[in-house]
Amino acid sequence: MARINLEHIRHAYGAKPKSEAEYALKEVHHEWNDGGAYALLGPSGCGKTTLLNIISGLINPSEGRILFDGTDVTHLATQHRNIAQVFQFPVIYDTMTVYDNLAFPLRNRHVPETEVDRRVKEIIDMIGLGGWAKKTARGLTADQKQKISLGRGLVRSDVSAILFDEPLTVIDPEMKWVLRSQIKRLHKQFGFTMVYVTHDQTEALTFADKVVVMYDGQIVQIGTPAELFERPRHTFVGYFIGSPGMNVLPAEIAGNTAAVGEQSIALNFQPKVKAGAKTELGIRPEFISLGREGMPVAITKVEDIGRHKIVRARFADRPISIIVDEDGEIPAEPRVTFDPKAINIYADSWRVGEEA
Ligand code: ADP
Ligand code: MG
Repeated sequence: MARINLEHIRHAYGAKPKSEAEYALKEVHHEWNDGGAYALLGPSGCGKTTLLNIISGLINPSEGRILFDGTDVTHLATQHRNIAQVFQFPVIYDTMTVYDNLAFPLRNRHVPETEVDRRVKEIIDMIGLGGWAKKTARGLTADQKQKISLGRGLVRSDVSAILFDEPLTVIDPEMKWVLRSQIKRLHKQFGFTMVYVTHDQTEALTFADKVVVMYDGQIVQIGTPAELFERPRHTFVGYFIGSPGMNVLPAEIAGNTAAVGEQSIALNFQPKVKAGAKTELGIRPEFISLGREGMPVAITKVEDIGRHKIVRARFADRPISIIVDEDGEIPAEPRVTFDPKAINIYADSWRVGEEA
């Protein structure tokens, strides 16, 4: 149970980085609340694992500090940080039994055997390996080994934080769902700070109180699922969250209108845009209505995906996506209107505020 502060963390794997591009983490400055459940979401290569390993102490950052409850742990070894980490691939002892693998983190800390037994039995049932306690880990499947790995991360109830790095990747979908809700339950029960890395947005959105979106070595937004959906701070968040992602169209701002090609779109605020900035209008496919009124579009494709249709179209000579209800009709001369409340304006990829 700890508050984690990351202070101006930068990291490059190479010895003497010559350019900004060599930094796997460019600037991470952020506080994770005590007892919070955070999902760390981002594409492959954006720096998620690097950041987790810096928190756990497996990597020393090139620059910056890490604090646990206000104490500087930047140079403290992993085993003194009182955290558990579960990796993407199983880390277990092949020659030990399933039981002993799970008991290891507790015995290592001299927990009394009666308590060890109680905790191991609880965890072994949770991961569904109750019948396997006396088997050595060697003969188990990759999926079973990963469950043991997960169990080892969860077996101690006194850790300050648990860091999960895509721990359910090799687990089948149904079991994934079960394990996820068990992790959530343990989090509620013990109140450890939890950081859960995933590249799966559904997993992130259903799991965490706060979703931390990473892109290119930076945290670009931290928010609730609704905030990420409605007000993406960076165009990347708009593309990445939602399916299909936010439409982003080049726009010229004048007062409270945005011109996209020939079309002029009314805004309900006056964006403050600096001269020379590359400005864009973002609107999600859910907030464009297709009908007989508004601005002309040319439909290129309709994908029926059951609950609704995804209409691909060209608007002001740009491709856009529109989500239409399953029973919504598509007129012969289609037109669109944009919901002004759902329009976001971006300057150099960052969202421009509402203040006039
Ligand atoms: P993620 O977990 O989000 O996929 P990583 O933290 O693994 O991203 O990687 C971030 C960047 O750092 C990538 O460009 C990756 O190639 C690089 N990187 C990761 N590990 C190493 C390493 N051991 N040596 C050199 N570069 C690395
Ligand atoms: Mg990774």
